[in-house]
Amino acid sequence: MNETTTYLDNNATTRIDPRVVDAMLPFFTTHWGNASSAHRVGRGVTAAVAQARRTVADCLEATPGEVVFTASGTEADNLAIRGVVAANRGGHVVTTAVEHPAVLETCRELAQRGDCELTVLPVNADGGLDLDELQASLRPGRTCLVSVMWSNNETGVVFPLAEIADRVHAAEALLHVDGVQAMGKLPLSPTVQHIDLLAFSAHKFHGPKGVGGLLVRRGTKIAPATTGGGQERGRRSGTENPAGIVGLALALHLAVQEQPNHDRAIAALRDRLQAGLANVGGLQVTAPDAPRVSNTLHLTLPVEAEPVLVGLDQEGICCSAGSACSTGALEPSHVLSAMGIDASRAHGALRFSLSRETTAAEIDHVLEVLPRVVARVVAVSGVGRG
Ligand SMILES: *Cc1c(COP(=O)(O)O)cnc(C)c1O
Repeated sequence: MNETTTYLDNNATTRIDPRVVDAMLPFFTTHWGNASSAHRVGRGVTAAVAQARRTVADCLEATPGEVVFTASGTEADNLAIRGVVAANRGGHVVTTAVEHPAVLETCRELAQRGDCELTVLPVNADGGLDLDELQASLRPGRTCLVSVMWSNNETGVVFPLAEIADRVHAAEALLHVDGVQAMGKLPLSPTVQHIDLLAFSAHKFHGPKGVGGLLVRRGTKIAPATTGGGQERGRRSGTENPAGIVGLALALHLAVQEQPNHDRAIAALRDRLQAGLANVGGLQVTAPDAPRVSNTLHLTLPVEAEPVLVGLDQEGICCSAGSACSTGALEPSHVLSAMGIDASRAHGALRFSLSRETTAAEIDHVLEVLPRVVARVVAVSGVGRG
């Protein structure tokens, strides 16, 4: 990447912060020991992992014993859902139609195998949940788990977790939250207090890839994801990844500490982008009036997104057609289908996702390039010709 690259695909992954890289490097060189070893080579590593666990716990208003490190956000979601279903020997699970595949596919697979019953809640045109419908779906004594995301990776729409938690807990079920897109974007306090299981992933908040975690509130019954040497209090066996864990902890600390400041700046840039594109013919902002995280602008165009993405890339602009995971897929996004956006419109979906590194000059570059690229694609495709 060079200075002419405008990177606006931060919901897919973020650039690792150089301070995080510096903090990680010793764990590849001098501090290469096993965190579970009692001798001098392991000891410093043990201490660093313990310190990182305390840092993460502080950020999440939890205790260190409630933090389980995993190899990804996907693994954390799997541990939460599979772990609760296994610990309850089945039961009923509730999730939503707009979850990340790490949640939706996991729930569907368990239901297909007969390991649980599943309700997938619909969303309205703004990507929001009907809380009465959520409440009506709960079967006290049967529903063991409700799994909802904090903010949506494609649209940025935020779910009202405190209200959801009240209803879930009244039915004596557990609340798992896929918080992968929320860290560093939304204030964690006081909402985090209402969550029983919370998944996160370092590479979505300027940390390294290949490390994530799950907050498991004390007293939450959860079966282990892997069995073996009993690391992570028996919930996730496997030799710890000290460099990754140290990197995750510092990245989370930086993200949480600076969140309110960054949020204001990022919101201003996103709003400038959204307002500046208002004149592009046929462009529609997705869920403009819904509560959204400040970094995400999702929109649909009256033409295919694919040639627009190619045109933007040629001018150094990186964004995505909805979500990174569904790029190249012919199926329209399941999130947009759930919101009732028709397939032809969904094929014109573009997602710009900003970060604390995004500059006003980059936004202005997009405002200059996008209308031109869209006009070219419209002319070629014949859309709007009389
Ligand atoms: C990226 C993402 C995940 C998966 O996290 P990985 O660490 O990439 O496996 C899960 N949920 C959401 C909402 C995401 O955006």
